[in-house]
Amino acid sequence: MGGDTVPTFCPLCASRCGARATVTEGTFVALLPDASHPTGKAICLKGKAAPEIVYHPSRLLHPVKRTNPRDSADPGWEQITWDEALDTVAERLIAAAASDGPECVGFSSSSPSTSAISDAVDWVQRLIRAFGSPNYCNYVELCGWGRYLAPLYTFGASVPGVYLPDLDNAGCILFWGYNPSVARLAHATSTVAAVARGAKLIVVDPRKAGLASKADHWLRVRPGTDAALALSLTHVMIEHGWYDADFVRDWTNAADDVEGERVWDLLASRCAQFPAEVAQEITGVPAADIVAAARTLWEARPVAFYTWSGLEQHSGATQTIRAIDVLYALTGSLDVPGGNVLFEAVPSNPIDGAEFLSDARPPAVGLEQRPLGPARFEYVTGEDFYTAALDRRIKALVSFGGNMVMAHGDSARGREALRSLDFFVQADLFMTPTGELADIMLPVTSPFESEALKIGFEYSQEAQSLVQLRQPLVAPRGEARSDLQIVFDLATRLGLGAHFWDGDIEAAFRHQLAPSGITLEDLRANPAGVRVPLTTRYRKYAQTGFATPSHKVELYSATLAAHGYEPLPTFEEPLTSPRSRPDLADRYPLVLSCAKSLFFCEAQHRQVAALRKSAPDPQVEMHPSAAAARGITAGDWVTLDTPQGSVRARAKFNPSLDPQVVFAQHGWWEACEELGLPGYPPYGPDSANLNLVLRQTPSDPISGSSPLRASVCDVAPLHAADPGGS
Ligand code: SF4
Repeated sequence: MGGDTVPTFCPLCASRCGARATVTEGTFVALLPDASHPTGKAICLKGKAAPEIVYHPSRLLHPVKRTNPRDSADPGWEQITWDEALDTVAERLIAAAASDGPECVGFSSSSPSTSAISDAVDWVQRLIRAFGSPNYCNYVELCGWGRYLAPLYTFGASVPGVYLPDLDNAGCILFWGYNPSVARLAHATSTVAAVARGAKLIVVDPRKAGLASKADHWLRVRPGTDAALALSLTHVMIEHGWYDADFVRDWTNAADDVEGERVWDLLASRCAQFPAEVAQEITGVPAADIVAAARTLWEARPVAFYTWSGLEQHSGATQTIRAIDVLYALTGSLDVPGGNVLFEAVPSNPIDGAEFLSDARPPAVGLEQRPLGPARFEYVTGEDFYTAALDRRIKALVSFGGNMVMAHGDSARGREALRSLDFFVQADLFMTPTGELADIMLPVTSPFESEALKIGFEYSQEAQSLVQLRQPLVAPRGEARSDLQIVFDLATRLGLGAHFWDGDIEAAFRHQLAPSGITLEDLRANPAGVRVPLTTRYRKYAQTGFATPSHKVELYSATLAAHGYEPLPTFEEPLTSPRSRPDLADRYPLVLSCAKSLFFCEAQHRQVAALRKSAPDPQVEMHPSAAAARGITAGDWVTLDTPQGSVRARAKFNPSLDPQVVFAQHGWWEACEELGLPGYPPYGPDSANLNLVLRQTPSDPISGSSPLRASVCDVAPLHAADPGGS
């Protein structure tokens, strides 16, 4: 294949894999891994399909406005100019803020973990904060809460979200509710290398997915019971003295007195409620495996760990994270080589608009109900957003990508919430079921058509030391503009130009880079990036303490106690499981969970033939014995039934599952014309939209996380003509 090869990186998911792009006669034809880049050992099928995404015929190429009411089957899209689109958006937002305050304007974006919004997300946040709205809905309660915000109540820091696993030096790697092979490929390649040099690997996952097959311990936990497993592991470690006593004494609040008892004793008694045999009954993990895994955690230190959304979509998400964080604290591995480390960052000016925050700002929606939840950090859960839109506290929405009705539970309620808005603008690459409800759609470039500045690639000190200015590989298609450009264009029209360098993105980048000493000219001359020599400092807490009220790691959280929550980590049966809902268990005896696909980022990419050919149909994975008991054979179309209704999928056998557990996939709606594979309506009887039959409630009382990964269901053969048309 001839043509120029251009150093770049793929920003389609959190991995941000270093890559080289082939551009032939002005056409982007291939993306390949770049082993010289610290995240470039491999790229996945989604990255390889990047050219197909760029040139896909269904891309949005022009701004359009709706001419029919929101409940019409046909929105009546009419092409408009960028000036008309942006002027209209600015006028509507200014008018809404003038009449009901800036808080009546909600903002949304896709998750930076699973989309290229990472190129612009800090700037989106700056726009939101400069505008004055506290209401930003970006799915954090479903993806991010457990890595970034919940750990603040234990560590005062985002562990493991920002204190990342030092996989190159770890003695033991613990992945919990996290499959890096689909979620963060650079972690997967580093883990394979670590295992090859002798590191131990513990994977906690209800499915034997990804690296679980290479693990020394694969703990097949019943969905939603992870806190019981963590408390049991901690119990075994305390009982055997398998913990870092010096760290516990010096850097946790173990020695504090609470109502006449030592925190350590309180923790030990809480954990003692979960001896391995009890935990086996709750979690399904054999007692001997729990003890063996606890031994490995101790003997193979330092421990590097990572968690993901497998833990964040449960009614007990926050306490589960607390339990795992406390377990991790006992290993004494925080901020030591081979543990979870805050790697040194290239100095830069922050641009996320934190300077606009003040106590005078109106509270975010949901703060009253969950004062320690996402609203405390000015994020709004999907559940709260829908409620606020329906009761007219939020009247307008500006959304940078994302597919709200497909990504949250209660899709039908989401549609009603979006219909009830006075004004809704969505920026996106493709039309979606969410975009169909917008008043204006703005066409967005793919990341391969736009420039982006990345300061640090996070994974390791080497990666964190790299600064790269990704070049556009090809010109934008049609009239598409990058999210970044849209933010700056909109900001100037909203009268916020002074905070956005009067719309000059280059000037903004120069400001961001200034403390690093690196110039845009340096970066343009070195498209593979500029490396800044940095040295990791470890055990930084020894100088500063932890950013918690006690300046220690909080095994007991007085903050949680003051708000009426359990101050010690605790386990509660998932609120939507067959055990907690015996009234539903006869009709819905199975536990329904869900997992990411190897081939698609969340609700995206089903239209891309290179990806869809590998996964042509929505699937539900089930144990062969559960299928046989229902007269289902592999490949049959089935209905997935919950108390909220039924959707369809094809049965796939997975003998590694507990027979009582099934795994489905969310995000199925889009057709693939090239392969003649159908789409599915997001609502109604022919739907394959899992979130149509999952609810956002009962949610986690602290965070509002939805119970999307452990709810009751049953599966039955679908007695109809082939619904897939294939
Ligand atoms: S894992 Fe795949 S989609 Fe994610 S950044 Fe790497 S190549 Fe892109």
